[in-house]
Amino acid sequence: MITINNIQEIEKQMSKLKVRQKKIGFVPTMGALHAGHIALVEKAKAQNDVVIVSIFVNPTQFNDKKDFDKYPATLENDSKLLKAVKCDLLFAPNVKEMYPDGFGNPEPVDFGYMAETLEGEFRPGHFDGMAQIVEKLLRIVQPDKLYMGLKDYQQQLIVGELIKKKDLKTKLVASPTKREKSGLAMSSRNTRLDAQGLETALELSKSLKLARKLLKEGTLTVAQVRRKALDHLAKVKAIETEYLEIRDAKTLKPLKAFDRKAVVLIAAKTGGVRLIDNLIIPHRA
Ligand code: AMP
Repeated sequence: MITINNIQEIEKQMSKLKVRQKKIGFVPTMGALHAGHIALVEKAKAQNDVVIVSIFVNPTQFNDKKDFDKYPATLENDSKLLKAVKCDLLFAPNVKEMYPDGFGNPEPVDFGYMAETLEGEFRPGHFDGMAQIVEKLLRIVQPDKLYMGLKDYQQQLIVGELIKKKDLKTKLVASPTKREKSGLAMSSRNTRLDAQGLETALELSKSLKLARKLLKEGTLTVAQVRRKALDHLAKVKAIETEYLEIRDAKTLKPLKAFDRKAVVLIAAKTGGVRLIDNLIIPHRA
């Protein structure tokens, strides 16, 4: 695996690969890699000639400075994990490299309701920063395929829109959420939870599963199902729920009835760590 820290060098490598007509798969990350990230790399390996992973903790997508400061940095271990799955290139720039002229204000792209709701509401500016860095990275790497996780459900929908709006020549491949055996969605932020916190965090996936079960049973309305799932969480003192919503899986618009593919999305804090999770619920045809 070749590790590169500067843009010019990575562009040079990418154009060499393009000349040789290599298919390029790209996995952007913020590091502190876990099996969820590695599954994306493995999928990219299987579907392309060359795989490039980026590790960059992007300051402009953190609305909370403390969250940014506490974001785990484990580059040495990440590098080992990537070598073990035969990743070809690691792009790990520093902040100055990505923002030589300072952050400025990311030029907002109008994604409409999809970016205003849920994370957009609770993390103002987050998606502007995310779209800014993803577009920058895509213009540098110019991959044939871009690999992202459904764990960040709203993010991958917005990146799909970004690709369309900016006419970027890449195909988005979204992969299922990797979970611990317990059901907890893998996340770099889980490393900040102690044993008790990990136990408490399990209630997130439990509440999602409860919502799924009730929706599938079909006896309650969507609003009643949401209430039940929220009540489940409310019983857990150590959890502060930001939202739990049942939405149209394509548009993220509120769902009145379970008459199409739905997604249940949750954001909650426990032990000072903010976690998100979701479950996609196919509509019975
Ligand atoms: P992050 O480093 O958290 O920005 O994540 C980088 C990419 O990995 C994003 O596309 C995430 O959606 C994806 N990802 C993070 N956690 C998981 C997981 N548990 N399962 C699948 N993909 C994930």
